[in-house]
Amino acid sequence: MDMHTQQEKASILLIYTGGTIGMIENPETGVLESFNFQHLKDNMPELKKLGYSVATIQFDPPMDSSEMGPDSWMKIVKIIADNYQKYDGFVVLHGTDTMSYTASALSFMLENLSKPVILTGSQLPIGMLRTDGKENLITAIEIAAAKENGLPLVPEVCIFFENHLMRGNRTTKINAENFNAFRSFNYPVLAEAGIHIKYNNVQIHVNGEERELKPHYLLDTNVVVLKLFPGIQENVVATILKIEGLKAVVLETYGSGNAPRKEWFIRLLCQASARGIIIVNVTQCSAGTVEMERYETGYQLLQAGVVSGYDSTTESAVTKLMFLLGHGYTPDEVRDRMNRSMAGEITL
Ligand code: ASP
Repeated sequence: MDMHTQQEKASILLIYTGGTIGMIENPETGVLESFNFQHLKDNMPELKKLGYSVATIQFDPPMDSSEMGPDSWMKIVKIIADNYQKYDGFVVLHGTDTMSYTASALSFMLENLSKPVILTGSQLPIGMLRTDGKENLITAIEIAAAKENGLPLVPEVCIFFENHLMRGNRTTKINAENFNAFRSFNYPVLAEAGIHIKYNNVQIHVNGEERELKPHYLLDTNVVVLKLFPGIQENVVATILKIEGLKAVVLETYGSGNAPRKEWFIRLLCQASARGIIIVNVTQCSAGTVEMERYETGYQLLQAGVVSGYDSTTESAVTKLMFLLGHGYTPDEVRDRMNRSMAGEITL
């Protein structure tokens, strides 16, 4: 290969964290277990055939994504920050179970990101005949390498899965069986992969001016998700709101942000807000937004100091709160920032 071609070759860093994509079946128990990255490479000779230079780095040991959390997010951020100048784009191989949480967290932790960070994985291990992993991985690499006029086409944290490229902090895992496992209900897909990869340029966030990447490593996990259901008891809500050290609650409400108007419920929320606990209202519906001014049942929450989560996913609200609390903002500052979009996670 001549120098010229070599210079033009996009360079991608593939970060293998674990998940089904690289798993193999334990012959004794039949259970899927994480395996060394070599297994993935051996089962994917196509990797070598791609016209890009693909370097790899792996978590040791690889992790099932249900074991992942802030420490793993920091590890991924550190790998990206340390290698930021060396590569044109990054592909993160990750278990599907908590991929939307990781993608949301990374979108907040990688401030001023101007290169693609594409998460993908698979429902079937890469060594299996019917695997969805090969297509997901190859297309994710293509997307991470895609440029126009020398600039990356998708300088965002995204999830690519089963033909769809989605903004990471808008996604939710919706299916434990189908290859089509993720959805972005409240934001259009950023690209669709068919015969061609069609980019939805209008929806892709592009930084106006290039600023230096600012990686963040501070997260505070004193957060809880409280999902309402008809019949929820006063002592349950009271006990949750009294958890020692609790700083924020993602309150999953009904419809457009509604909750019962019971006196005890509103009183408990008012008291928690007054103690500095941030309560963010997100809807249990997959699609749509919270509008607390719409019904009396939502309006009461506003008056109890609850802030709107707009059309945020729970995954995004949880990780955004961890990020903001980790940075030591006061409760009012956190409430204020929940009302602003940091990485395209809410529609205002
Ligand atoms: N349990 C696996 C994980 O999330 C499932 C997957 O990879 O799809 O790590």
